[in-house]
Order: sequence, then C-alpha cells, then structure tokens
Amino acid sequence: MGTRWTCHGPFLLVLFCYGQLLPWLRAGPSRDIIMSTSFSTGRFYNETVAKAFLQFYDQTAQIVWSQFMEATWNYVTNITKKNREEMTPSLLLHKDSERSKHMLYFGTQARLFKTSRFQDPDVKRLLSKLLNIDKAALPQDELQEYNQLLAYMETTYSMAQVCLNEGPCMPLEPDLQEVMATSRDQKELLWAWQGWRDAVGRQLRITFERYVQLSNKAANLNGYKDMGALWRSKYESETLEDDLEQLYQELQPLYLNLHAYVRRALHRHYGPKIINPRGPIPAHLLGNMWAQSWVNILDLVLPFPKKPPEDITKIMKSQHWKPSKMFEEAEKFFTSLGMLSTPPSFWKNSMMERPADGREVECHASAWDFYNGRDFRIKKCTEVTVEDLLSIFHQMGHIQYFLQYRNLSVIFRAGANPAFEEAVGSVITLSASSHKHLLNRGLLRRARKEEVNFLMSVALEKIAFIPFSYLMDLFRWKVFDGTIQKNVYNQEWWNLRLKYQGLCPPIPRTEEDFDPGAKFHISASVPYLRYFLSLVLQFQFHESLCKASGHIGPLHRCDIYNSKKAGKLLEDVLKLGSSKPWPEVLQKITGQTQMSTKALMTYFKPLLNWLVTENVRQGEILGWPDFSCTFEACHFFFFNLFMIDIEREREAEIQAEGEKQAPCRELDAGLDPETPGSRPLPKAGAKPLSHPGIPELAI
Ligand SMILES: [Zn+2]
Repeated sequence: MGTRWTCHGPFLLVLFCYGQLLPWLRAGPSRDIIMSTSFSTGRFYNETVAKAFLQFYDQTAQIVWSQFMEATWNYVTNITKKNREEMTPSLLLHKDSERSKHMLYFGTQARLFKTSRFQDPDVKRLLSKLLNIDKAALPQDELQEYNQLLAYMETTYSMAQVCLNEGPCMPLEPDLQEVMATSRDQKELLWAWQGWRDAVGRQLRITFERYVQLSNKAANLNGYKDMGALWRSKYESETLEDDLEQLYQELQPLYLNLHAYVRRALHRHYGPKIINPRGPIPAHLLGNMWAQSWVNILDLVLPFPKKPPEDITKIMKSQHWKPSKMFEEAEKFFTSLGMLSTPPSFWKNSMMERPADGREVECHASAWDFYNGRDFRIKKCTEVTVEDLLSIFHQMGHIQYFLQYRNLSVIFRAGANPAFEEAVGSVITLSASSHKHLLNRGLLRRARKEEVNFLMSVALEKIAFIPFSYLMDLFRWKVFDGTIQKNVYNQEWWNLRLKYQGLCPPIPRTEEDFDPGAKFHISASVPYLRYFLSLVLQFQFHESLCKASGHIGPLHRCDIYNSKKAGKLLEDVLKLGSSKPWPEVLQKITGQTQMSTKALMTYFKPLLNWLVTENVRQGEILGWPDFSCTFEACHFFFFNLFMIDIEREREAEIQAEGEKQAPCRELDAGLDPETPGSRPLPKAGAKPLSHPGIPELAI
C-alpha cells in the first residue's frame, strides 16, 4: 500500500497516480468502510513513508481543490436560470463530493502514522492538520443532507427580498443596505430591518436546528466535543476563551464611550420618543442592517460638523477613476513595499465589475486561491467609491498572502490563524486611509487638521464592530455546546446583543423569529472570531510595520507606503502560511507572542480623550446599567431614588415623556411577576447611578 503514495516528481506521473485514485474517489467504498478498515489495519509507517504520503496528498489535493474552486467560480460568476436549476449545482456537488472523499481518504490514512517517533516537526504538523476532515467525516447520507441544508440556508439568504406593499421588491444588496445606510426616517428603517428578518431569519429557524445537530455530529467524528470546539481548535490555544474575554474587557471603555456619545447624537436627531439617553440603542438606527458598523451615520455624529471631511468618492469621480485603476492602486501599494506583484492571469480572470452582458453574479466581494500556485482571483462588483477602494486593498491583502505561501504544501496554505488572513489587508488599509497617504496620492486636496473627525470615522467602523464580532461566535459556541437550547435561540441572541452591544430590538421579537440567521455568516456557516481578533492584530501589525518604516509621531498618521523594510517584515511572516504556531509568527513581526490591545488603544488615544471629555461634559452614564431588554420588547427599569440633582430630574422627565410612545414598552410587572402593574423597581443588583468619570484604561 505504501508504494501507492510514492508519486514524486514529474507532473504526468502525478496525474497517473491521481488517475488511479480518482475512480476510487468517485465511486470508492463507503465512508464507513474506509473509516473502519483504516483504523483496524493499525499499520506502522515510518517517517520516509509519511513524507511520500504527504507529497502524494499535496499533488492530488492541488488537482481536486483547484477543480472544486473552478466549478464554484463558474457558478457564482454566471448564475443563469439554466445553471442554477440544472447543470452547475450537480457539477458543484460532484466536485464537493470528490473533495470530501479526498479529505476522508487522506485524513483516515494520516491517523495510522505514529508521529511521536518522528523527527521532522513539519511532518508531524502536516499530519496533525490532515486529521481534521470537518464535514467529510459524516456518513454519506448525512453528508448529503448537510450539504443540501447548507446550500438551502445560503441560497435563502442570497435570494431573499423585501417587498413594498404595491411597489418593487428589494434585495439586500444594494437596495436594503442603501436604505439602512442613508435613510434617517425611523419608520422606513424599521420597515427594512423587520422585512429582512422576516424574509430570512424566520425561514431558516427549523433548518438551523438540524444544522446544529449535524455540525456537532461531524465535530464528534473528528474528535471534538462540539462544532464550537472544532472551530476554536484553529487557534491552537488552551486559554482562548479567557484570552478573548480579557481582550474584550480591555477594549470595553473605548466602546462604551463611543456608544454613549453616539446615543446622545441619535437622541438629538430622533428625539426622546425613540432614544432613551441612558438606555440601549434601538438596533435599526445605526446605519447598518446588523448595527455592526456605524460609519454610515458619520454625518449625525461628526465631532466638528463645521469642518466635514472632504468627499473622496467625489474626488475619485472627478479624476475619472475606473474599477481597474482602483485595483492597480492597491497593487501599487504592495509593490511599493517590495512585495510580490500579481500574475497576468489575475488581471485576466478576476471579476472586477458587475458583468455588462446580463449575467447574474454573486456580488459579495471575495479573494480566491485556486491552489495550483498560479491562479488567484478577486470577485467584486466594484463601484467607484472610497469604501470600495479600501475594500479592494483588503482583498488584495488576501491575494498577497496567497502569493507568498503558494510554494508551501496545500495543507499550510492558510494564515497563521484565521485572524492573520483578515489582518493583512486591513493593516494596509490603515496606511492607505491615512491623510498622509491620501494627500500623496492626490485623493485629498488639502492637509486637514480635524484629526478627531478622521478618527471618529475609523472608530465607527472598527470600534463599533468590537462587541458584534465577539458575540457572533459566543452565540454559536453556546448553541453548539447546548448552553443555548433551541427554544430560546432568539431570546439568547438578544441577551448577548444587549450585554455586549447595548442594543435592543426596535419591535417585540418572538421565538418564531430567528434574528441571528439574518446575518450572512450564520446562514452560511462561516466562523466569525477571525474578525474580532483581526481588529486587535491589525493594529499590532501596524505599530510594528510603522516602527520598521521609521515612522515617528502618532500612530494614526503613519503610512508605510514605499517602505521596503516594512514590506520585508510582513513578507517574511506571510511566507510561513500556517506552517508554524501563530505565536511564533506573531513574535517575528511584533516581538510579542500574545495578541494585545495596546497598539489599538494607542491609535485611538486622541479620540478616546476627546470622547471622555465630551461625555463628562454632557453628564453621560456609560453603558445601560439600569435597563433590561427582555425578549418581547425593551423594558426600561429605572428608578428615582438616587436621581436627586436637577439635571437628572430633567433627564427623567424627558425619559418619562419619551416612554409614552417609545418602541420599547415600559415594564408593567416590575420585578414581581405575581403583581402585574406594580410600581417599577430597580433591577436586581442595580447600583445607584454614578458619574462615570474617566475610565481606567489599559494604557
Ligand atoms: Zn477578508
């Protein structure tokens, strides 16, 4: 059996060997037989055989993965009715099935090696990574069911529309997103917010329950207690959950100050009927369908509104920018650092604009590695806007990672951990969006002094995202491990939204609803922790790269463009892919072995100082300590015992007035369900209102 793997060298020979394997992959024995046969053989393989086995894996995986990527690409960039209904889904499922069989075969065989006796750490690491075969571990019939269920959830999300009574129907992109971003009419916002959740979340609830069962079964078969544990295993850390909570706690003062400031601005705009200045914020008013980024309400919260930022999109349009030029601009940044340029095939094969030939395409921006070392592409329906320009920088960061690790084994062609993959493009974006860079590239007309306005725009994207990016997987981990049972999915989702984001649903919710399913990454089963950790990592990287580039001065003014030293530092870690444990990789670039919030806090220090001063001046209460947002509606618990000063009495009057018509009804049962209508009392454990003062910071 060992000789089957000794297929090194010439490509034709590989194809020959693969030719032998392929029919077996297509029609081979059932998974159950493979699993049982392999375990029972108990063969001992030496390290030389292991190396040959890994080489054979690599050469066949390049073919299987590349074909799968090609089939997927062809589908998502040409969704004709015929393709959707007939040819492509079956081809896609076929290629997916081949890939699963390939994973199953090699994952099962990899278990036979007794790696404790091996010398080469790379061989050990490669084999250990092969062991995780994810959903391919499921029995054939359940794998098929799982694939169909995943396809159903993703398709339901992609095809959903919200219809006006007698008007047109609107898809999420661009129509509903546009409404959420630009409308300042709370009724219209509520219509889009509720409509999207009715169209997607509710439809997915039952399917999601089965998805949880099958996910956990796949995780068990891979040796994990549930799917959450399998997802966390990618981070190779025993203390991950505690570390995350600590990072979150360190960042919380920044979020709470931003939340309080934005809440005040919304109160000013929408009035006390809609916003309680001491409570959670209704989730539909923050410029985004999921309230995960608040950058679209910058106009409502600009610290110095008389000195608004220049409109870069307008400048780009006046300079006749085209989508291709935007990609070239991002490419130029990477090559200015001495990093790799993309091959001609990238420019030929990528989809940089929505096709003009009538093809329907999936527009969600993404970067693709075809695993053959040659083919890398981006898919994006680019519009000429500054947001899209920065998004292209981010996607090109993924491409640069692919290029740098393209010569490693397929198994190592990934980020040091998933957060590293997201942080690379984002760290370049931090430089590319700096005033210095935009001025140099002719995208700003004059140097601006309103740095707090600039930092506010960055914070509305990145700081507002902190609790959301954290709770997305907290929720799913609890679902997978059974802490959150299926009869309270929606209630527990809102408990987390309140606890971490300080948000309430704008209208009563029930267990008929399934609001988490209205977010793409939950309906498409994509883990989210990478985005939370990438927020922290990108600032750590930025600080180190800026230092290498010789930057002196505040971190938010740094632009590493043209710095070969910064480029070399980044390139050296990207080349490693996932071949080393991430703390080692992190140490190479930052000198530290742990993720730290220090650089992020340094970057935002001028904004935080400004926010704290402003919040103290306004007498803001940080957080929402005396409010609860129960499942069916927001219930306000407030009390008067300690509200003795004039300012607070005035606030209470405004609040009481507002609550008469607020979307969140006042709790009439107080804390005693036996005596409905009793006078509201302080929430259990509530502390007297006190002035927040200046928070204790980690820096
Ligand atoms: Zn990304």
